[in-house]
Amino acid sequence: MSKPKILVIYTGGTIGMIQDETTGSLKPFDFHNIYDQIPRLAFYKIDIDTYSFQKPIDSSDMNPLFWKDIADKIIENYHLYDGFVILHGTDTMGYSASALSFMFKNLSKPIIFTGSQLPLGIARTDGRNNIINAIEMAAAKDENGQAMVPEVTICFENQLYRGNRTHKNNAEDFNAFASPNYPMLARIGVDIKYYKENIYVPNGQPTSVCTDMDTNIAILKLFPGINEATVSAILNIEGLKGVVMETYGSGNASQSQWFTDELQQAVNKGIIIMDVTQCKGGGSVNIGKYESSLHLGKLGIVSGYDIITETAITKMMHLFGTETDNKKIKYLLSKSLRGEMTVE
Ligand code: ASP
Repeated sequence: MSKPKILVIYTGGTIGMIQDETTGSLKPFDFHNIYDQIPRLAFYKIDIDTYSFQKPIDSSDMNPLFWKDIADKIIENYHLYDGFVILHGTDTMGYSASALSFMFKNLSKPIIFTGSQLPLGIARTDGRNNIINAIEMAAAKDENGQAMVPEVTICFENQLYRGNRTHKNNAEDFNAFASPNYPMLARIGVDIKYYKENIYVPNGQPTSVCTDMDTNIAILKLFPGINEATVSAILNIEGLKGVVMETYGSGNASQSQWFTDELQQAVNKGIIIMDVTQCKGGGSVNIGKYESSLHLGKLGIVSGYDIITETAITKMMHLFGTETDNKKIKYLLSKSLRGEMTVE
């Protein structure tokens, strides 16, 4: 059997930094010399090629055009490689993994995002293990020769998560990511244990990619005391098409008349509002469970169920970028397209 081939794509972020031997300062390293940085990779029976974007960025500068560049690079090389590892800053990795999950339909190969909390050039770096683990899982095949994890995922600190279920929840620990509403896909210990029951099974349809994203959307995060001027300013943004509304608990919001009126006016203008919970640790929106969400249902606000904000945002960008009929967009928002939410 021929060796699996993996393309490692470097976008930027902490992981790509090493210490300059003379000045001691951190500088980006040349990813074409990945074996110099991680000699252990040579022990694997895996062919690894690398591609680095010319201008690696801190992931706080990430944007839909860069997502398109990443997706284009993957699709250009899709038939040449068994899997793809995307090295990315941790700050917005959850958004990027979600965006890519929507851009690719009927994926049959792994796209694994990873990064690190400490630069690769620092002795205690977590980056070395993260890259090694991501490459090994991107190359892994099942007994039928199919990719073990044909999904967009995030590999971090010995865990593999579905990308569109995962957000950064810690700026300090090596264990920086959490997937509050979906179990992990694999755990890395002495062996790598894959939880097949949680992993997407390809449907045999050809893989396609659509990278158009529409950014005419906003987040409206509720808090006790939010005033009419703030809500009105957000809902009246010129060109606004969709709003991810972060509500309380299981999808609850104020029943004040002014608030309901603002939402009603926005809905009447054709703005689609999706109800997602502010609870970071898990849980689902359940419109109508409490009286304090009944009015949202009557207004035609879409339930986000247990979708996380990062994913709701990228799902809206994708749907407004690819569809024009509001009815269809609402319908698709309330469906799970890539395993991004659990529809009750
Ligand atoms: N600010 C960095 C980034 O997201 C942090 C990191 O890589 O972990 O690009």
